[in-house]
Amino acid sequence: MANCPYCKGKVTLETVEKETKGMGILKQEILYSCPNCKSVLGISRGRYMG
Ligand SMILES: [Zn+2]
Repeated sequence: MANCPYCKGKVTLETVEKETKGMGILKQEILYSCPNCKSVLGISRGRYMG
């Protein structure tokens, strides 16, 4: 699906490591990191309610 720009390893939605940051439901960020070298690949913002 995609390759890590740091270690060139294969990263898929199944293997990518997700870490949820933030507290509560109002502000939440999901950190995506490479399963091979643990480099951070991107941050996804959660839903903002209201
Ligand atoms: Zn990597």
